[in-house]
Amino acid sequence: MASVTLDGVTKEYDDVLAVDDMDLEIRDGEFVTFVGPSGCGKSTTMEAIAGLTLPTRGTVEIGGRDVTDLPPKDRGISMVFQNIALFPHMDVYDNVSFGLRLRKYSGEEVEQRVERAADVVQLEGMMDRMPEEMSGGQRQRVAIARAIVREPEVFLMDEPLANLDAELRVHMRTQLQRLHRELDTTIVYVTHDQAQAMTMSDRVAVIEAGELKQVDPPLTCYDEPNNLFVAGFIGSPSMNFIEGEITDEGFTSTYTDVPFDPAAQGVEPGQAVTLGVRPEDVHLQWNDEQAAAPTDTYGRIVDVLEPMGDEMFVYLLSDEDVEASAEGRGEGQTLMNVGPGEDVAAGDDVEVVFDREKIHLFDTGTGQAIVHGLE
Ligand code: ADP
Repeated sequence: MASVTLDGVTKEYDDVLAVDDMDLEIRDGEFVTFVGPSGCGKSTTMEAIAGLTLPTRGTVEIGGRDVTDLPPKDRGISMVFQNIALFPHMDVYDNVSFGLRLRKYSGEEVEQRVERAADVVQLEGMMDRMPEEMSGGQRQRVAIARAIVREPEVFLMDEPLANLDAELRVHMRTQLQRLHRELDTTIVYVTHDQAQAMTMSDRVAVIEAGELKQVDPPLTCYDEPNNLFVAGFIGSPSMNFIEGEITDEGFTSTYTDVPFDPAAQGVEPGQAVTLGVRPEDVHLQWNDEQAAAPTDTYGRIVDVLEPMGDEMFVYLLSDEDVEASAEGRGEGQTLMNVGPGEDVAAGDDVEVVFDREKIHLFDTGTGQAIVHGLE
């Protein structure tokens, strides 16, 4: 295993700045996930670590060694990609051992390594299967085993689960965590799926338009997002945002006022501020004991219910005039997550509260977080 250090890594394609001056220290043995929307620069960053692309500026170190100009094979890495390219005419054993045999490892060494890898990804008993006789998940495990046998210092995985169905993806998430624990190796992982990032990683690196927006453990990104982008990207369904302004009395907006002492929260009257609150921190007034510190009540109209079995999402409108926007939650729209049996129906007038301790304030201009949890 080895650390991976990016120092000022920048990648420009003609007029696209794919990766913008990225500094990142991935510790020895750490599982770090690059997450962000499509096109934000995740794969390009990974390719710079892998040696598949040369950064325009900046350096990449693996295990303290500058590898910026080294080809992939000299970097001590193994890669697993979304598209699994197994040799169709070879059985599992030959697919997994192919690279080792090419490098002229002894028969005994090859056998031992394949056996160990098969054990980690639970492929025992399948060594003579052909790829066409296997499910997508099994084939992906073969691809991972092929990466394991090289005993790399760093695993690089770019959307390895993207082509699997939802159930298998969830299963593979636990497999990958187990793999990380058993191999005790550094894993750098790319996904646009924040659920994968949240569940597996020691730290997530959230990227927007080539820039690192936050690098922290998953729950820190969830509870204390640095900025509006991370707040909106991490968490599903995402945080409610209400744009407003600070007055001497606190926060005010068209439909929602939250009183507080501006100085105590580090904001100034006149400042444009966006209030953020997650769906699970909005409660029906008759359940206000679920909020550690409930706000005053807000009148809302129930628009749409989404019963999920164990919970229910309730879309609320502030006013009958406010149309639910197809592009996301409109200004007066709030999403609330309640228990499955709550007695609410579309069209009901309801009173709701927010939990003050779970309210986030962001500077609307810069997007930077000001406070997580009101005093
Ligand atoms: P992600 O992996 O987050 O989806 P990428 O790293 O693939 O994003 O791409 C980042 C940006 O760089 C995108 O705008 C993409 O169009 C651009 N890009 C990626 N590869 C190339 C290339 N070979 N030539 C030109 N532009 C590219």
